Amino acid sequence: MVQRNGIVVIGAGLTGMSVAMMLARRGLPVLVVERDRREAFGRREGYPALRAGAAHARRPHQLMAGARDVLRRSLPDVAKRVYELGARDVIEYPGASQAAFMSLRRALLERAMLECADGLPTLTLRFGERVLGLSCADGTVQGVRTAGGVLPARLVVDATGIRTRLGTPYLGMRSYLYYTSRPVRLTAEGFAATRGAVSLRAEPELEEGGHVRLFLHDPPFASILVALRGEGQPPEQRVVEETYRAVLSSRRLGTPLRGVEPLAPIQDFGYLRSRIRLSPTSQVHGLHQVGDALAALNPLTSRGAGLGLIQAELLAEAVARDVDDFAAQQEVMASAYHEWVAPHWAMGVVQAFLRPGAEPPAEAADLVATARRRWRRIRELRQAWHGDQGALLKDHRKTVLEVLALQAPPAVLDSLPERTNP
Ligand SMILES: Cc1cc2nc3c(=O)[nH]c(=O)nc-3n(C[C@H](O)[C@H](O)[C@H](O)COP(=O)(O)OP(=O)(O)OC[C@H]3O[C@@H](n4cnc5c(N)ncnc54)[C@H](O)[C@@H]3O)c2cc1C
Repeated sequence: MVQRNGIVVIGAGLTGMSVAMMLARRGLPVLVVERDRREAFGRREGYPALRAGAAHARRPHQLMAGARDVLRRSLPDVAKRVYELGARDVIEYPGASQAAFMSLRRALLERAMLECADGLPTLTLRFGERVLGLSCADGTVQGVRTAGGVLPARLVVDATGIRTRLGTPYLGMRSYLYYTSRPVRLTAEGFAATRGAVSLRAEPELEEGGHVRLFLHDPPFASILVALRGEGQPPEQRVVEETYRAVLSSRRLGTPLRGVEPLAPIQDFGYLRSRIRLSPTSQVHGLHQVGDALAALNPLTSRGAGLGLIQAELLAEAVARDVDDFAAQQEVMASAYHEWVAPHWAMGVVQAFLRPGAEPPAEAADLVATARRRWRRIRELRQAWHGDQGALLKDHRKTVLEVLALQAPPAVLDSLPERTNP
């Protein structure tokens, strides 16, 4: 049983489990309360059933190198277990020399976390129980409310994801891209043809799709992503199905997809959404928000879970230093927000949420302007090193790769030269 006045983490998603396990490894008493049943987590064979609390749990997860390193450093048993279960280090594109991601079906990561959690005596997990709200006195957290009563807590971590109902106001945005995805199983030859890449793009062959990619997970699993351009009305089912058919015969994807077996129907995520808290810290004393509950990124950036892990590590370290020094913990989380979360959120907005020339909402205007400038530099450098200036750009290239792999905060891009072409 959790001790009175322990730490309650709401949500057993990737961020919630990470912070809970990092705290429990230091001997702190932690209770995780999760709305979904345990059976919904971590099924290994084929593709897992839909998890109501995290509809994207079926999606692959590419953990950027920096986040993979957090896992190796702070949850080494989990890292070891996911590799045993089939996770692999992958490169960004065929022929690239550096492993940029860990790639796997997300269910495997959830499974590895639950298996390793069993070995932590101060960690208690409660599944199938929804948190309805906070219990507070004089603006200070006393616990969380569930249908069964109040679970007392001296500190609450909200890791309930994008649909959280707690915390300060947020800014929500919707993209013009309509996101669909289909899990598949490749043949051994098909998988080998991808040459260790994290994903393959079908463009420019396919006019129909706004963004078409084949994501490679733990072999032989993969998934096709088709994000269609649109405004207001969702695309007709016929258009979606025709696009998937076109993907199967695309020149670049045809070989990997030969003999492919679909594992579930096309999953419809709707228009891409992202949102961010306008203030990094909560008004309630004793409440921290992390992961998607703080900021949900454009899913096409493949960085949300990675940023969740980075936040989990920083928060666990701050709490372990002094569980009662909430001000110090808030300071750490505010700096994580400004250094990592908000800049990456804004880069995701620039990538797929704003059409060229469109104005961002006033609350995010400065952030988006900075992100646009940084994104322009990344693009210039990418173009230059794919040209014949690779050697000249070695140092800058390293900086850009570190930012993209979550190994350096985006602010380091500001030191790069404005124009890279001599
Ligand atoms: C389509 C898609 C693809 C993505 N691909 C990638 C990728 O490749 N790489 C990457 O790094 N990121 C990716 N992301 C982002 C990533 O999935 C999220 O950033 C990450 O899952 C956030 O983790 P979280 O733990 O904060 O929230 P979640 O994973 O959403 O977990 C929240 C948990 O809280 C539980 N919960 C919710 N409400 C309550 C309640 N009231 N009481 C109790 N429990 C509750 C839920 O059941 C769930 O288990 C993708 C996102 C999407 C939508």
